[in-house]
Amino acid sequence: MTQDFGLKHGERVGVFVCECGMNISDTVDVKAVAEYSLGIPGVVHSSVNKYTCAEPGQQEIRDIIREKKLDRIVVAACTPRMHEPTFKACAKEAGLNPYLVEMANIREHCSWVHTDEKEAATDKANDLVRMAVARARYLKAQDETESKVIKKTLVIGGGVAGIQASLDLADAGIEVVLVEKSSTIGGMMAQLGKTFPTMDCPT
Ligand code: SF4
Repeated sequence: MTQDFGLKHGERVGVFVCECGMNISDTVDVKAVAEYSLGIPGVVHSSVNKYTCAEPGQQEIRDIIREKKLDRIVVAACTPRMHEPTFKACAKEAGLNPYLVEMANIREHCSWVHTDEKEAATDKANDLVRMAVARARYLKAQDETESKVIKKTLVIGGGVAGIQASLDLADAGIEVVLVEKSSTIGGMMAQLGKTFPTMDCPT
C-alpha cells in the first residue's frame, strides 16, 4: 500500500530497520518492513541491520547517507529515549543535520508487546515506519546555539503552587519575582475555612 502525503520536501528518505539481534526479528518480519518502506513516498533506500546502534550499523548508515544523498533518515529500532542521540550523532558525522533524524519504535511498541501476534506486529511496524517517514518529511534542519542564562525567574500567580515554586527556586539560590494580580497571595486556598485532613485554617 502506498500513500501520497502531498509533501514537497524530504524526498530522499532512508529507512534503516534494526533486528536488535532477535529482539525485534523474532516477532517482526524485518525484511517485510524494509520492503514495505520502499513503497512509501519519499523513501529511496531501506535496509535491515542486525544491531543498528553498533559501530558497523552506524557505519552503514553513514555510508548510505553519503552514497544516496539522503536528506532524512528513519531508524526503525528501539525507543528514541535510548538511541536517538546515537543516530543524531551518526547523521551529523555523515554531514546530515541531526534534526533530520526520526525513529520508529518497533521494539517496545511491536515485538516486545505482540510476541504471539507476528503478523499483526509486522503490520503495526509498517504503520509506525510509514508515520515516522511522514513526520521525517516535515522535519527542518536546526542549528544549535548557546545563550547566556540569567539566574532569575518570573513566577506568575501567587496561589499555593506559585508560592511553593517561588520558595523552591529561592532555596536553590535563584532570584524570584512573584507576580499576583490580586492584593493578597494564597489564591483559592486563602478563601477556604478549613483544610483536610488536619482541619487547620489555611491562612
Ligand atoms: S538500535 Fe536499539 S533496537 Fe537496534 S540493536 Fe541497538 S538497542 Fe537494539
